[in-house]
Amino acid sequence: MNIVILTGAGISAESGIKTFRDANGLWENHAVEDVASPEGFSRDPQLVYRFYNARRAQLQEVADNPAHRSIAKLINYCKNSTKHHAQLITQNVDDLHERGGLKDQDVWHMHGELKKMRCQKSAQVFTSPLHLDEKTLCPCCHQAGNLRPHIVWFGEIPFYLEEAFSLLNKCDLFLSVGTSGFVYPAAQFVSMTPETCRRVEINLNDTQISPVFDQHLTGKAGDILPDYVDELMEGLS
Ligand SMILES: [Zn+2]
Repeated sequence: MNIVILTGAGISAESGIKTFRDANGLWENHAVEDVASPEGFSRDPQLVYRFYNARRAQLQEVADNPAHRSIAKLINYCKNSTKHHAQLITQNVDDLHERGGLKDQDVWHMHGELKKMRCQKSAQVFTSPLHLDEKTLCPCCHQAGNLRPHIVWFGEIPFYLEEAFSLLNKCDLFLSVGTSGFVYPAAQFVSMTPETCRRVEINLNDTQISPVFDQHLTGKAGDILPDYVDELMEGLS
């Protein structure tokens, strides 16, 4: 069985990660678009560094939850199986899936990772220090000023799209977890799965795209996923 799991902000919110949608899209009175766009970064790099430093610091105050651990259990089970394959794709930039039991390479972070930085000259990706700024020396070119957060900003193309599309084409089970409200990319992902695919949505509320799913499980992912994954795995073995 080919399983694709897409996770979004909801699963991180259950761990206490703040989304700026709660605060009307504002961070310290700056529009999130201003601190999360290439234009914003060229206009005021210090502000952008400060925004991501604050978000990176916030990671130290939160922990993975049972939903992250259940997904890790399923992925790790499938890694040891010859019959089944499961891939996690996340819109989240935190490292809670990794802390929940997955290896770095097991998680496709479509929107990048808070804990990483990228050299704008070489495009190489490195682990970011907690505090990144224009004075941070780049490990590859040994210069300051070339590093940016390894985050997909507004107007930039998400990572792993092609890989995701090719998996979705042969997907037997598509799980969408905590991707409420925002149609892209969950709606597009679902539309790429074959007719025979079972599509399951796990969310606090119904979403605009709920009608395209075969099954809805309404509630906290941390409450629903542990039992859901156990039952699924019984069927797999
Ligand atoms: Zn460099």
